Amino acid sequence: MVKENLLIVQSRIEEACRRCGRDPKEVTLIAVSKTKPADMIIDAYESGIRDFGENKVQELCDKYELLPDDIHWHMIGHLQRNKVKQVIDKAVLIHSVDSVRLAEQIEEEAAKKEICVSILLEVNVANEETKFGFRLEETEQALRDISVFPHISIKGLMTIAPFVENSEQNRPVFKKLSKFYVDMQRKNIDNVNMNMLSMGMTGDYEIAIEEGATLVRVGTGIFGTRYKIGENEV
Ligand SMILES: *Cc1c(COP(=O)(O)O)cnc(C)c1O
Repeated sequence: MVKENLLIVQSRIEEACRRCGRDPKEVTLIAVSKTKPADMIIDAYESGIRDFGENKVQELCDKYELLPDDIHWHMIGHLQRNKVKQVIDKAVLIHSVDSVRLAEQIEEEAAKKEICVSILLEVNVANEETKFGFRLEETEQALRDISVFPHISIKGLMTIAPFVENSEQNRPVFKKLSKFYVDMQRKNIDNVNMNMLSMGMTGDYEIAIEEGATLVRVGTGIFGTRYKIGENEV
């Protein structure tokens, strides 16, 4: 099932690129494997996928130990400051930096390990109360504040669009972040080298690509439905 689903997702990515005149090589598919077992991840790996997304530190670390070491693990979920230490040398990219305090913690732990950590700033474009992330209006200042940290490399921006019935409703959200991303690239802030825009999930990745996404995070569309335990989607 995973392999068939992947072929479908990959061909939709190519079609979306064709529609807007982009090279499909500009778009990286991140297979969001949270809650899914190792054998399903291996199926995707055998199909050539090397980028996987997890939203919990413990699960990312467990899978990191267990699975091939040429996998690029992406941390896409809200990160608590007390878990920074465990994840910074395992994730290739942390998509979910949502406060300057969190960045400070990453700087501190990265300095101890003498590594440089690549991050994206998460932006709550639609100002949803239930979501983490900087408000768009405060993101430039956050970029400037975080850019001075020597052990952090800011690579771009990430957003999680609202849950909507019709994915077209999210086009303005993607457009807004994409425009801001280009504005920030043009400002050439010292130590900020933005070339990654992480947006689009199973329901809306084609639209996100049409609006400029370079990283799409697809879970359900590859691995099937996740199950809910209690309040939390797992
Ligand atoms: C779970 C998750 C995804 C994938 O969601 P799907 O709708 O299953 O594709 C993408 N991004 C983040 C941040 C997630 O937590």
